[in-house]
Amino acid sequence: MNITESFDAIVVGAGPAGTAAATALTQHGHRVVVLEREKFPRYHIGESLIPFTYPALERLGMIPRLRASAFPKKYSVQFVSPSGKASQPFYFFDRYDRETVAQTWQVLRSEFDQMLVDNAREKGVDVREQVEVIELLQEGGRHVGVRARLQDGSIREFRAPITVDATGREAMAATRKAWRRPDPLLRKVAVWTYYEGAVRDPGIDAGATTVAFIPNKGWFWYIPQHQGRISVGVVADGKYLTRDGIKDPATIFHREVKENVWIQEHLAPGKSCGDYWLTAEYTFRSLHCATDGLVLVGDAAGFLDPVFSSGLMLALKSGVMAADAIHEALLAGDMSAARFETFAQVMHQGVENMRKLVYAFYDENVSFRTVARSYPEAVGDLTDCLSGDVNKDFSRMFTALSQFTTVPESLPYGMPAPPGSASAPDAPVAIPAPPDGAPLPGSGGYTHVRLDGAPA
Ligand SMILES: Cc1cc2nc3c(=O)[nH]c(=O)nc-3n(C[C@H](O)[C@H](O)[C@H](O)COP(=O)(O)OP(=O)(O)OC[C@H]3O[C@@H](n4cnc5c(N)ncnc54)[C@H](O)[C@@H]3O)c2cc1C
Repeated sequence: MNITESFDAIVVGAGPAGTAAATALTQHGHRVVVLEREKFPRYHIGESLIPFTYPALERLGMIPRLRASAFPKKYSVQFVSPSGKASQPFYFFDRYDRETVAQTWQVLRSEFDQMLVDNAREKGVDVREQVEVIELLQEGGRHVGVRARLQDGSIREFRAPITVDATGREAMAATRKAWRRPDPLLRKVAVWTYYEGAVRDPGIDAGATTVAFIPNKGWFWYIPQHQGRISVGVVADGKYLTRDGIKDPATIFHREVKENVWIQEHLAPGKSCGDYWLTAEYTFRSLHCATDGLVLVGDAAGFLDPVFSSGLMLALKSGVMAADAIHEALLAGDMSAARFETFAQVMHQGVENMRKLVYAFYDENVSFRTVARSYPEAVGDLTDCLSGDVNKDFSRMFTALSQFTTVPESLPYGMPAPPGSASAPDAPVAIPAPPDGAPLPGSGGYTHVRLDGAPA
């Protein structure tokens, strides 16, 4: 017998974007189901929050949980040259309110995402784990729900006037509708692992993010976590990382450690946990963020190079904003794509501002320190954008940057699809191969290996 369940909204994926959308919709009084393929807690990369993640977390009621957590408090960011020279840390409280945005967290995603799920359930969201969505249902030119496979292998239909795609970088809708657009330039590879016993800086700097440079504008992240762990990874062009034919993630990682004295010294007393992850994290955007009866949030709408740790802020913000737009649409009884125009404009402006700074970061001719010295009037803008306060007029900052680099045009992606286009193809489309011969990511977007050869 074909079982069908009905809701006000269906959310596919229980990551930060999905739980944010579902929680905010439930706060508006709607009946929401979240369908998640994995059993939580599950592993995920993306562990450093930025200051302006605060408003979305507050809206979801997550701040008390985070304050009570063991996650290290993050007050600052610093940059380190290959020779090991560290910049003066930038402390968020030098510009922002000490009681709110100026302190954020370094999270372990398995625990952080579980907290978001627990919070969603407490607020009334029906979160179902180990349910894989296998098809987006369309009728009469609009989306009407999904078909999903339950843990026992049975198939069930879930119906609602609106479906939220929060499937992360797998980007279910964008992939099936052939809406994935790779970024023209940002095609990097990341390799990472976890250390125990590595150096933690003292006092207020114990939870700082460090970005440490290697040649060719590659960089390491060094993110202190709780339980004595450090998350440490290297990001660079695939061609550079795999030079001389090296493809093994552990060998790539340890070769690059030698390229930065600060990283080498900080890791020296520690020990790697033995697991290494690799992803060809080539940046992409979805051509559209919505069509009739369907809206895309978080990484499912686009993934931006993680150098400024903007992913979680954008995921949570887009989830909350989409929920507000859906609420209005449900009240109006109109789930057409055009209802998501304002949502699309705001997210597009924020992502584009951040993307332009990411381009500048990778340009050999740009040093943010030099820009700041030459154009002190742009420093506030630069700080705000890097801290995640991305929806502002930054023309002063981009004028300053344009003295050092070509600031790219905004990409014409991310607006709602034109009327009547919901019935575009819904069939798996081949995802382009990662650049520079890097290995294909495995399920969830990563290749995961253990040094001892044990199955990962
Ligand atoms: C190397 C790297 C470093 C990063 N560092 C940072 C950082 O420091 N700070 C930061 O903020 N961000 C960082 N990010 C980005 C961050 O990981 C993402 O932006 C964030 O996880 C996006 O959340 P999301 O909810 O959109 O997707 P996800 O967290 O990926 O959640 C998607 C969920 O959907 C589920 N799903 C997928 N398909 C289906 C299906 N068919 N049916 C049911 N469920 C499904 C998945 O199981 C998953 O749980 C980094 C990313 C990378 C690759």
